[in-house]
Amino acid sequence: MGVKKIDHIGIAVKDIESVLSFYQEALGLENLGFEVVEDQGVRVVFLPVGESRFELLEPLNDDSPVAKFIARRGEGIHHICLDVDSVSETLEEMKQRGLQLIDHEPRLGAHHKQIAFVHPKASNGVMIELSQDMEEAAGTPVSQD
Ligand code: ZN
Repeated sequence: MGVKKIDHIGIAVKDIESVLSFYQEALGLENLGFEVVEDQGVRVVFLPVGESRFELLEPLNDDSPVAKFIARRGEGIHHICLDVDSVSETLEEMKQRGLQLIDHEPRLGAHHKQIAFVHPKASNGVMIELSQDMEEAAGTPVSQD
């Protein structure tokens, strides 16, 4: 099972605009732009840090899992995303170890990636997102726009 790198660190915030100056001005990071991820009920921005990125997550409504996270634990680190060779193989191995998962099958995330979330109980408190670049896996890179 191959974990290649930390793809990004997801940070839950109530209001992205109010923290952007910290990341963009105090840290000098580039903001790649806003994106809405409807099925997770969030608006996000990615800010690259070398090979990795910060992902700021702002809930779109009170039903969003991120809104519930902030209500329970406050703003802060929400998940750590690992770039893996195979999301499905990693999930299979975790199932065999009896670990608690949120997603039992890979699902499609943004940017042609397969993703899955592992329950924080599996790691004593840190939610892990698994991510696999499908363009890379298919061996037929599609031009990015
Ligand atoms: Zn993420």
